[in-house]
Amino acid sequence: MDFIVVGSVGLDDVETPMGKVENALGGAATFISLSASYFTKPVKMIAVVGGDFPTEHKQMLEKHKVALDHLEIVEDGKTFRWGGKYHQDVNVRDTIFTELNVFENFDPKIPDILKKDSFVVLGNILPSLQQSVIEQLEGDNFIVTDTMNLWIETAKQDLRKVLKSTNALIINDSEARMLAEESNLIKAAKIIREMGPEYLIIKKGEHGALLFHEDTIFSAPAYPLESVFDPTGAGDTFVGGFAGYLHKSGDMSFENVKRAVIYGSSMASFCVEQFSTKGLESLNESKIHDRLLAFREISRFDDE
Ligand code: AMP
Repeated sequence: MDFIVVGSVGLDDVETPMGKVENALGGAATFISLSASYFTKPVKMIAVVGGDFPTEHKQMLEKHKVALDHLEIVEDGKTFRWGGKYHQDVNVRDTIFTELNVFENFDPKIPDILKKDSFVVLGNILPSLQQSVIEQLEGDNFIVTDTMNLWIETAKQDLRKVLKSTNALIINDSEARMLAEESNLIKAAKIIREMGPEYLIIKKGEHGALLFHEDTIFSAPAYPLESVFDPTGAGDTFVGGFAGYLHKSGDMSFENVKRAVIYGSSMASFCVEQFSTKGLESLNESKIHDRLLAFREISRFDDE
């Protein structure tokens, strides 16, 4: 099963209470791929950049065995750019600018050799593009989908189509309420699962994540961090860790999907410790495993 990631690759200007960076590597597909690369290799990235995309970023991704053979480079175009500023409460951010540039005409094409029986991560892009990827696939695929409030508001019907083919959907709590049109999260989860996904993960920021499957719920903690440098890409990093671990293990049982949620949370906790992708660039198996154990410790208790 090939591991494919579809989404944005870009350059970000980010300001947080801890400092700021300009022209830093960003994009949902970037964070997903880098995070997944600690579990499964190669990660096949399907995205688009302009001729201005720095070589050093390509080299860093390739060093992590993120295969860029299907990264389209529009030589005379400009790379997608995004700017965001976080409030003192880093759960709140303002988008300062979005320049779609070459991303405006992104039309993901899955190469023939990757179409069959693949593990596909659909990063947060227009649901109609996610659907076009799904329609190119053949055979037995496993699909992990990310989305956002904008698409729930503006492209709900397209998103509903995508959800019919989605095996695991990862969204945050406010998006879940909006999608289900239901304020109670447990009821909302039931409604969303009926739309298609057999697994639903609802992220609750610094309060962890909930996993829903059939009639069962698993509650995962968040890692308690004293200082968050840059939350950009944390959600995508969660998706990458979750999907990469599941792909590597090839075990889609509820017990293993629980583990995947903890791996996703662990990777996200590394992401926010530094700006841009820096917190994800120098990890190794033992650092990741130690954090997994720390997660286990903070939620372990004895019943007397
Ligand atoms: P997150 O913090 O998980 O929302 O992801 C942030 C990343 O998403 C940044 O690195 C941005 O480059 C990228 N991004 C922001 N807006 C968009 C957009 N409209 N489409 C695709 N990617 C985006």
